[in-house]
Amino acid sequence: MRIGGMEKENFKKNETNIVYGTVDANESRNLLWNARYKSPNLPFPLGVHKQFEIYLQQSTSAYRRVLNRRIEVLSFEQVHESSREPAILSGYRPDVCTVSEAFLSLISPTNETLNFWSHFLAATYFIVRFQHLYEKYDFWNDVYVWPLIPYFFAAFLYPFMSSLAHGFSCLDFNARHICFFLDYGAISIYSFGSALAYRAYVFPANLFHIEFERSFLYVAGASSIISAVFTCYSRFIPDEKRVLQKTLRIGWFAVAYIWTEIPLVSRIATCSVNEMSETSILMGESPCDMSATYHYLQMAAMGVATFCYATHIPEKFFPGRFDLFGNSHHFLHVFGVLATHFQMQGILIDVDHRREFLTENDMLLDSFSGLLLPLTVILSIFLVLFSFSLYVLFFYDIENMPVEKKRM
Ligand SMILES: [Zn+2]
Repeated sequence: MRIGGMEKENFKKNETNIVYGTVDANESRNLLWNARYKSPNLPFPLGVHKQFEIYLQQSTSAYRRVLNRRIEVLSFEQVHESSREPAILSGYRPDVCTVSEAFLSLISPTNETLNFWSHFLAATYFIVRFQHLYEKYDFWNDVYVWPLIPYFFAAFLYPFMSSLAHGFSCLDFNARHICFFLDYGAISIYSFGSALAYRAYVFPANLFHIEFERSFLYVAGASSIISAVFTCYSRFIPDEKRVLQKTLRIGWFAVAYIWTEIPLVSRIATCSVNEMSETSILMGESPCDMSATYHYLQMAAMGVATFCYATHIPEKFFPGRFDLFGNSHHFLHVFGVLATHFQMQGILIDVDHRREFLTENDMLLDSFSGLLLPLTVILSIFLVLFSFSLYVLFFYDIENMPVEKKRM
């Protein structure tokens, strides 16, 4: 707000003649606002150092208020059947919570706190990794590194969507379904992003220029779109048809993962000295040998994540002991992110060391497959998610929606 010259003068004069009374936070905030911008004739004109003191006092007490507030945590019996997790007995948030309760649950100990932070921090980490790469490569002019853009977008998106889903799915029942549609969609996009990066940098020489290589990305793209449709649709399948429900949800992700891993396994099994680039000859190793360790670690981490998710170990043997920390869903998140980290390390080694080899042997990804195909797949998956969300919001009787586990 503009203040005139005369008012400004009075304001300065008043500000230097401070008498600071005991006032509550709201009153002092109003006085401060008035002293600065409104009336030059205040009963309590405030000096700069006192203003700072008040700001400090207010912000500290607001911070304390947030920290002292705790979201109501509930036990297994107190929440709806759809919110319960096997062998997790306490730490539940209310079935439907307010926005402030959802935020509070992220800084208070509930059984979603670690799920949120593990994936939120991972998403932040992947952004930082990409920022470093942006400084290293010329993304504007170097077509060779373009496939890294959709790959890193996918690697960021799935933990980010998952953290949103875990943090805010309690807002209402519609929000829960939409959050998990986004979560499934992001995993499908990540599945295609991995296939794209493998085709661009990891593919073994023995699989190039054959039908498998020509169809690899199209099959991976179609399979990602189908997995998005199936996983979203699985939320409408009643619990009595649990086998069909699980087959649609887990089965298609497994199919997509196995298809994506075929070239990687083949590459590791047939590490070839033909791949040696100038740089790696100096180091005495082929790019395959250099990246293989990370690819093994990726598969091992993914194995641990899947095992924990499928078996509910360790909470299955100690119900109630791992409600807030150390349960199978936490292992799924942490080892899932580690798998992505190791995959990224392996891919980036190949990006640096296979450029020459891939160029000389006419194995580079064309710009359609490198950028337009991923764009098509990503937009198609978002269209699927949008359609399911519209259906839930406007056409589906949410009361009749089958009882459904809340997490993926
Ligand atoms: Zn999760």
